[in-house]
Amino acid sequence: MKKVLLLDSHNHPINICSWKRALILLIKGKAENARMLNDIDSMIKVDNILIPCVIKLTYELAVPYKELPFCRENILVRDNFVCQYCGKKFPAEELTLDHVFPKSRFGPDIWENIVACCKECNQKKADRTPKEARMKLLRRPYRPKDYLMFEMQKYPQSLIKYWLEYFEAS
Ligand SMILES: [Zn+2]
Repeated sequence: MKKVLLLDSHNHPINICSWKRALILLIKGKAENARMLNDIDSMIKVDNILIPCVIKLTYELAVPYKELPFCRENILVRDNFVCQYCGKKFPAEELTLDHVFPKSRFGPDIWENIVACCKECNQKKADRTPKEARMKLLRRPYRPKDYLMFEMQKYPQSLIKYWLEYFEAS
């Protein structure tokens, strides 16, 4: 999990990259440490090299908007691997995807209609709406807006705590 947050030249987060890519950008002078030089605690240690956990491009770059792929893994991450009906957390392989408005009745394959669901709840709900099945959704499914904020959920708190302030600022 040795990852680095990349900022554009205006301090806006644009990507998460590997420490290797970060090191190359630093060596080529295309990026610089975005944090205080003496902030050793936040640095990533690889062998004997210290790499800043946030770097900033030294040149102007127009970044295209990136849409989050609609796929099983991302739905599970959005729902934090928690069944949206019983509220219990499961390993990925024990979760299914549930169409809130049933697929058999032409419920669409969209972010707003698909939730993580354990096998037991899925069986219980069957081809019914939550209301018909008398099952309450933990929260309404939604389309994640910010790609990077979403990607960050996959990384440990110890790493992203240094990244968060750049999101608040942008
Ligand atoms: Zn469940």
